[in-house]
Amino acid sequence: MAFIEGTFTFLGTSSSMGVPVIGCSCSVCTSSSIYNKRKRCAALIEVSSKKILLDAGPEIRMQLLDACINDIDGVIITHGHFDHIAGVDDLKSFYYKKKSKLPMVLPRQTYNDFCVRNHYMMDKSSGGTESLFFDFHIIDDMFSFAHFCGVEFYFLGYQQNNMDVLGFKLGNLAYLSDIKQYSDRLLQEIQGIDVLIISALRKTTSTMHLSIDEAIAFAQRIGAKKTYFTHMAHEVDYESDAKHLPKDIFLAYDGLQISFNYYKGIV
Ligand SMILES: [Zn+2]
Ligand SMILES: [Zn+2]
Repeated sequence: MAFIEGTFTFLGTSSSMGVPVIGCSCSVCTSSSIYNKRKRCAALIEVSSKKILLDAGPEIRMQLLDACINDIDGVIITHGHFDHIAGVDDLKSFYYKKKSKLPMVLPRQTYNDFCVRNHYMMDKSSGGTESLFFDFHIIDDMFSFAHFCGVEFYFLGYQQNNMDVLGFKLGNLAYLSDIKQYSDRLLQEIQGIDVLIISALRKTTSTMHLSIDEAIAFAQRIGAKKTYFTHMAHEVDYESDAKHLPKDIFLAYDGLQISFNYYKGIV
């Protein structure tokens, strides 16, 4: 089995409201540290000469422009919450540039939401099931191997307050954002993973997300070699909280780039 180095770039590491939060005067929202400025959770995966965007929240246009990302091969939409999908309209630019529909992978439930919310972007001649701008790859089996843009993903599903969310394993990296409820199977599938990227909202508990302590326990339970926290709210102060994490667990920040190994030939 050949392996190829891939790059994962955090384009945004915040929870749904962004950091700073509008109108908030807390010490993190007023901090001058660039590590406390977080745009909505998104990333770019570069592997096998392919660029795959991960989520498209309301700031995605500026995230793409700021990172000089002029071309992508596809987009993964993890679920239908505003902070992950509100910017899909701005991805039309790629359709106009390439003159072909942009591949988009998403769970069935998110696809159903997409068709309702973005009805004006749907092709009426298809009865509203196809988009004018996107080529849908709908995930029905939330634990499934799939080729997407020629890259071999193992998609892993879980739920956030009864909403289906798509995580994935890609080579020796696992990505799980917006996670609270999960199955034993999920734990088994990512046991001993080298690089874990997981959401950790804040220090106090939440009904929607793992807290920092819960995410630490999760990473230790699966024996992840290195763990990066994302999707963090304004209660998380990079300058003080990053220092108090266990060894090999880190707070991500906007612009952080990490590498991973992609194993070609697993499907
Ligand atoms: Zn979210
Ligand atoms: Zn604040």
